[in-house]
Amino acid sequence: MSNSSDLMEKLVSLCKRRGFIFQSSEIYGGTGSVWDYGPLGVELQRNVKEAWWRSMVLERDDVEGLDAAILMHPRVWEASGHVSGFTDPLIDCRTCKARFRADQMESALCPRKPSRKPGEHTDCELTEPRLFNLMFKTFMGPVEDSAAAIYLRPETAQGSYVNFHNVATSMRQRVPFGIAQIGKAFRNEITPGNFIFRTREFEQMELQFFVEPGTDDEWFEYWKAQRMEWVTSLGIRPEKLRFDEHGPDALAHYAKAAFDIQYEFPFGWQEFEGVHNRTDFDLRRHQEYSGRKQEYVDPVDRNKRYIPYVVETAVGVGRVVLAALVDAYHEEEVEGEQRVVMRLHPRLAPVKVAVLPLVKKDGMPEMAERIQKSFRAAGINSFYDDSGSIGKRYRRLDEAGTPFAITVDGESTSANTVTVRDRDTLHQERVSADGIVEYILGRLR
Ligand code: ATP
Repeated sequence: MSNSSDLMEKLVSLCKRRGFIFQSSEIYGGTGSVWDYGPLGVELQRNVKEAWWRSMVLERDDVEGLDAAILMHPRVWEASGHVSGFTDPLIDCRTCKARFRADQMESALCPRKPSRKPGEHTDCELTEPRLFNLMFKTFMGPVEDSAAAIYLRPETAQGSYVNFHNVATSMRQRVPFGIAQIGKAFRNEITPGNFIFRTREFEQMELQFFVEPGTDDEWFEYWKAQRMEWVTSLGIRPEKLRFDEHGPDALAHYAKAAFDIQYEFPFGWQEFEGVHNRTDFDLRRHQEYSGRKQEYVDPVDRNKRYIPYVVETAVGVGRVVLAALVDAYHEEEVEGEQRVVMRLHPRLAPVKVAVLPLVKKDGMPEMAERIQKSFRAAGINSFYDDSGSIGKRYRRLDEAGTPFAITVDGESTSANTVTVRDRDTLHQERVSADGIVEYILGRLR
């Protein structure tokens, strides 16, 4: 077994053991490539979304938030080109019954003979590629006739385009400005997999930034830089990140330019986030299909009117979570014992601090409970644990990625002090119990 698949297996198993991510409907044998976020996973995911929302919406005057519905008018997807063009080329192998994306054949392994080199499929009986639409179709209302057919959105972007004028007018925004959304998207992927990397149901964090034509190249460069900066602010190692430019063949039907931010996952360099110059394609098409003008009129010079260009940044929540987990995973030896530690950035760590009474007597539990209450009151996600040896408790916390552990011991009750253990350095410090919330707040900053 290669080291990379070994690492993914260990990560999947840790995620289950510690309550980050479970397979969906596991008691029924599981649903392929569908995952549920457990108690720690949901906090990690919330922290990722919170960090994105903060940097995109709360810290800027030129971006507004939106939460558009998943179900949209079916004409939206005709206008956007998704009905006719959102397809992947599918190849079946009649010998192994495997299914491949034609554009990924070069790196695909033959499931019957995995010892072969990637892309080697000689003697397999492959079909010609056929185009397969990735949108999930369902029915609105009780009658399953074609008039009521509707799609689950494959991207949040279209919700931002059809609300361009609503947002601009209600918020008195002038171009350049953006609309940010976090929400579920669905794609009937041919080859989902690699844990939460490619799933059929996923969540996106997308910005559509509307600009005057002619200024789009400049804004494109601006957003590329901003997005790379954001990813590194989550503590993800810069040497594991790079830009990858889409060549003319790989450009989507709407795009003038596209760069991926890639992360080096255990299964190779893969797209993490996309930055796209979508031109005026979407708004122009919505103007054509809806019959409603999508022009922007400059409030200063009313003769100046144009359909804005759009620079989009699009990233999957699951991909950020996976990159953060992969990046954080470390195995090391401590005092002759092997430990697994998730070095998650404190901003992302699901639980920030654990409170541990050394033993369940001599006033230690009471003091520990009082300390935990003060963390709750300060809005810091904390965790109380009094079961098992202190060493075992530390190991569990290391795997959960909890940056700080506070131990209430024999000295604590008399001296009114506690020890704080740092997850990464293992350094232990004795500090005053009264100032503990301030102390932890300072360390989290
Ligand atoms: P790919 O080429 O890998 O299929 P894409 O180029 O179609 O991806 P975009 O349409 O640009 O992807 O989607 C924007 C972002 O949404 C991606 O960078 C990724 O983070 C996320 N994403 C897309 N598809 C999936 C999926 N099936 N599962 C999880 N995240 C996804």
